Amino acid sequence: MTKNKFQFRPYRRRFKPPLQTNHGIWDVREGIILRLSDEIGRVGYGEIAPISWFGSETIEQALDFCHQLADEITQETIFSISDRLPACQFGFESAWADLKALEARGENPQATRHSPLSYGGLLPAGEAALHAWQKLWDRGYRTFKWKIGVYPIAVELRIFDLLTQALPAAFLRLDANAGLSYDDANLWLYNCDRIWANAELPVQIEFIEQPLPVEQFDQMQELSSCYATAIALDESVATLAQLKACYQQGWRRIFVIKPSIAGSPKRLRQFFQANKIDAVFSSVFETAVGRQAALKLAAELSQNHRALGFGVNQFEEQDEQTWLEHLWKAH
Ligand code: MG
Repeated sequence: MTKNKFQFRPYRRRFKPPLQTNHGIWDVREGIILRLSDEIGRVGYGEIAPISWFGSETIEQALDFCHQLADEITQETIFSISDRLPACQFGFESAWADLKALEARGENPQATRHSPLSYGGLLPAGEAALHAWQKLWDRGYRTFKWKIGVYPIAVELRIFDLLTQALPAAFLRLDANAGLSYDDANLWLYNCDRIWANAELPVQIEFIEQPLPVEQFDQMQELSSCYATAIALDESVATLAQLKACYQQGWRRIFVIKPSIAGSPKRLRQFFQANKIDAVFSSVFETAVGRQAALKLAAELSQNHRALGFGVNQFEEQDEQTWLEHLWKAH
């Protein structure tokens, strides 16, 4: 069995500005860049970008896993990583795929890293959204995502009214990050249906993302059948195992897939080939390394034209290539 030389570098990168969600403030992304090389020096990169509060392993668990590996690893090791380490599965498989693509084509992987898909732009929570959408619109974004469940519902519904009146013919996604009560979820869906029924407003509410906590699957099923506005599961389907479980329990609306923490790309691909899944692909604020691998998978598996939830660079440093080179030299 061929062995590939294995190296890894942990990183910490600060978000600018910090991200505000129902889970709290998130200001530093911690992850690990993986590097696999072959006997003639070709190099493939992968990234482990966990979000433990979303259902993946912790950064410490991922680091422990990397530390216990030998300097050389086989394909067998890569494809037998435990399901308890989904972000590791993704990172190692994508590094391996990156290297294999180089070996197969003998060309620079940058050339194959363009996606024809459209992207959603992330609006800031609360009132700031009212002033932020125009800039994104001018830059070509036609799908916006707005975090809800951050401020009191009366405040957010008032902003929602203003926002939906102001927006042109765009898609608007609301993301509650599992933070609504059952009553508030009803109120939001009712208000979304109201916008949907109002033919004078050009904006379209595409869906509400994860209104209720993961344990309240049945309530989300019920809400989903009561309103015209679609519900997308996100936190509920963080990993492939969860995705399969929700599908088996009958969920046929939208699934948000975060490739970087979903687990093995190989098995995700198999699941998509066997079932018709209405999916929205999304980032976990990984660096360019993980993002490129996730985008590649998204381009391959997208069966619809839903915009991708991959924000533009959220980090302080602008040039990802320079950042990557520095990360490697600094150690
Ligand atoms: Mg979400």
